[in-house]
Amino acid sequence: MNLHEYQGKQLLAKYGVTIQRGEVANNAEEASSGYDKLRADTGTEYVVVKAQIHAGGRGKGGGVKLAKNKEEFTQVSNDILGMMLKTPQTAGGLDGPGKLVRKILIAEDVYAPDFDACKEYYISILMDREKKQNVIIYSTEGGMDIEEVAEKTPDLVLKEYIDPNQGLLGFQTRKIAFNLGLSGTAFKGMTKFIANLYAAFLGSDASMFEINPCLKTGDDRIIAVDCKVSLDENALFRHPELAEQRDEDEEDPTEVEAKKHSLNYVNLDGNVGCMVNGAGLAMATMDIIKLSGGSPANFLDVGGTANAARVEQAFRIILKDPEVKAILINIFGGIVRCDRVAQGVVDAYKNIGNINVPIIVRLQGTNADIAKTIIDESGLEVHSAILLKEAAAIVEKVLA
Ligand code: GDP
Ligand code: MN
Repeated sequence: MNLHEYQGKQLLAKYGVTIQRGEVANNAEEASSGYDKLRADTGTEYVVVKAQIHAGGRGKGGGVKLAKNKEEFTQVSNDILGMMLKTPQTAGGLDGPGKLVRKILIAEDVYAPDFDACKEYYISILMDREKKQNVIIYSTEGGMDIEEVAEKTPDLVLKEYIDPNQGLLGFQTRKIAFNLGLSGTAFKGMTKFIANLYAAFLGSDASMFEINPCLKTGDDRIIAVDCKVSLDENALFRHPELAEQRDEDEEDPTEVEAKKHSLNYVNLDGNVGCMVNGAGLAMATMDIIKLSGGSPANFLDVGGTANAARVEQAFRIILKDPEVKAILINIFGGIVRCDRVAQGVVDAYKNIGNINVPIIVRLQGTNADIAKTIIDESGLEVHSAILLKEAAAIVEKVLA
């Protein structure tokens, strides 16, 4: 689960990581009072207005703008609130439709007044699965072009691995600050920044933190100017206050609905809908669809209880995708008996009515032959198969 920038910053602040002070606004009224409050709290008129969407590269798409007084602020916040923001990371990139901006963060401009004395760094934390260790990735070349830096001058991107038994040690935070070329107050500030950031990462069961830029101000303070936070969903039950921050507006609506029915669904961009029990079988099914010349429209694991009600919910979810040209149901009847699943498919098919894409059903396991008879005799536009190979051949035929 991803957090918005403002939520990520609240999390960091709890662990003592320095952030900019800011206010969140959902509309022009809140924006105006947010600006006034921020000015009262900080004594500065200089602010940055930032679109809150779950995508990076906002600066490149016009979603991050500065204002030097209230008049400029009103202009800028009107521009950003409600805009369709296109960034290199929104669907379709800069040529895509963009993402609706429903919230802005108004933050003090921490680069002011001495913009030229500021320096931007890059810091991220994630788990390196091969090394089985968390790693801090950092660079002196922070800012909006870090992807290019990583590609063209990978030597400028450094890594510090953390032994899970030792934790992050003092010499490591000092090494990072040293490699970033810092000294004096900024050096000390950076070691503290990194230690607190790492504590926040562990404490929130995060899977990724990215602070870009991490800023050194003219007066040597170290501040998180931006933050991207991804949390491990499997650990969210330990953090109800973070789970609460989920913003469903930012997620795929079909995936949100699937989650409500406890179906494990991921939308993909192919044309063959899949309904499968078990994640491993779902992956194998996607492979076989590819091999037969099709392309999966989704990953969907209906789980262990593939009963009629779940089959029907799964059908409805798959059919929401207009790209779907065929549906392949691939169920292994181990605990659930195939004949019950087959009856479920027939019932769901009748309940939903006018499903006008071909359905290929492959049921293997207990009572598979009875299941095939049920499907074949149902009188519905359903093709049945017992072998996965046969199912793939039918998919190929109906797509041709
Ligand atoms: P992103 O483009 O989505 O990664 O959004 P960022 O929060 O990183 O902002 C983009 C860029 O705007 C940063 O790289 C900074 O150079 C600039 N920026 C962000 N906040 C401020 C600020 O408070 N003051 C100034 N002057 N520039 C800022
Ligand atoms: Mn950024």
